[in-house]
Amino acid sequence: MQTDLDLLILGGGCAGLSLALRLAEAPGRCRRVAVIEARPDYANDRSWCFWRLGPHRFEPLVTQSWSRIAVRSASRTVVADCPQTPYQLLEAGAFYTHARHVLANSDTVRLSLGVSVIGSPVAVAHGWRVETSAGALTAAQVIDTRPPSVPRHGDSTLWQSFFGQELVCERPVFDAACVELMDFTDAVPGAVAFTYVLPLAPDRALVETTLFDPHPRGPSDLAQHHRRAVRRLCGDAPTRVVRSEAGMLPMGMAHDPGALGRGHLRAGLMSGAARPATGYAFQRIQRWADACGESLRHGDTPRGHQPDPLLTRIMDRLFLDVLRSQPERGAELFVRLFGGTDMRRIVRFLGDRGTLLDRAAIVASLPAGLFLRQLLRPTRRDLAEA
Ligand SMILES: Cc1cc2nc3c(=O)[nH]c(=O)nc-3n(C[C@H](O)[C@H](O)[C@H](O)COP(=O)(O)OP(=O)(O)OC[C@H]3O[C@@H](n4cnc5c(N)ncnc54)[C@H](O)[C@@H]3O)c2cc1C
Repeated sequence: MQTDLDLLILGGGCAGLSLALRLAEAPGRCRRVAVIEARPDYANDRSWCFWRLGPHRFEPLVTQSWSRIAVRSASRTVVADCPQTPYQLLEAGAFYTHARHVLANSDTVRLSLGVSVIGSPVAVAHGWRVETSAGALTAAQVIDTRPPSVPRHGDSTLWQSFFGQELVCERPVFDAACVELMDFTDAVPGAVAFTYVLPLAPDRALVETTLFDPHPRGPSDLAQHHRRAVRRLCGDAPTRVVRSEAGMLPMGMAHDPGALGRGHLRAGLMSGAARPATGYAFQRIQRWADACGESLRHGDTPRGHQPDPLLTRIMDRLFLDVLRSQPERGAELFVRLFGGTDMRRIVRFLGDRGTLLDRAAIVASLPAGLFLRQLLRPTRRDLAEA
């Protein structure tokens, strides 16, 4: 029995659309593809930022590029330049528009908006059957990019929760040349909390209040802290809110929900895309889409996100365990890291291209005793496994 489709992609967000774009460009043996997306329409709902490590396919969609970043604690400010690897901004709205345009002209990939997938795919002869709000579909292979569950305490070592607003201030108050990557000035006792400012113009910026915490936090939990940060940055002059965004990114997922069987794969933010140390996923999703698209067009099974190298996993986990057990040291650690390491090494490490020397330099910038003591402490996970 033939299935309706060669591939069914569940969820048309960053991961689903990124893979769909690869297959629309060069389908190879994967010629009948559908993407099912619950949202009836897309909005400019997130600002993807990343360090430019080399030429990339979304260069024309980048709207801002900065060569300077700052990291601040109450007692110290570090300003670092990164002209070779600028920090870039790609608005999700532009990405969705681009993807819709390409897919509308594709003979291979069909994007269905406003259709919800119901439940889990079920194995049938030669593939999978998926129930949707528009009827059932069968496909030889299924890639599920829906988040497997709502963020919960215990599912990730830390959650990076944030609430941001794009603001226009009455006066020019932002330095348009410098991203405030982490500003710990407005401390929250017992938490790693900072303000992230993407200056879009001297009077316009995306101001985001961020918390690294074992509990995922919604915008209402961050509202008071956010108001304080906006007042500090913009003063009492009236500000206009252009749009808002919020997220909860996993930093060290505890469980991998895994595949349901052959020809089924999970991908995306909660399924291996997010780098534990940062929660960032955009560039990792692009690398995954390249590799997975390549497998599929050769008639192979889809490829999942590749695990990080062992050393990276160890370093990320130790760093997160330290932040979790001693959040009050967070500001000091990030300021030491950015103040004591060549920016090129940090960017390579955060961009998954770190060399052994880069890792050694990062370790050398941090207080050895604190990390050694953490190594000797049993972690929450160790206690649970004992
Ligand atoms: C506000 C925000 C800002 C971020 N900024 C950055 C950043 O600067 N840099 C970075 O690297 N990463 C960033 N991230 C993290 C990451 O890059 C994004 O979360 C990215 O969108 C993850 O892609 P995804 O495909 O896994 O999830 P999504 O893009 O969320 O896609 C999942 C899709 O599945 C759909 N869906 C869910 N349930 C169903 C269903 N039942 N049926 C059909 N469809 C369904 C959803 O509607 C959604 O479109 C940010 C995240 C957020 C939320």
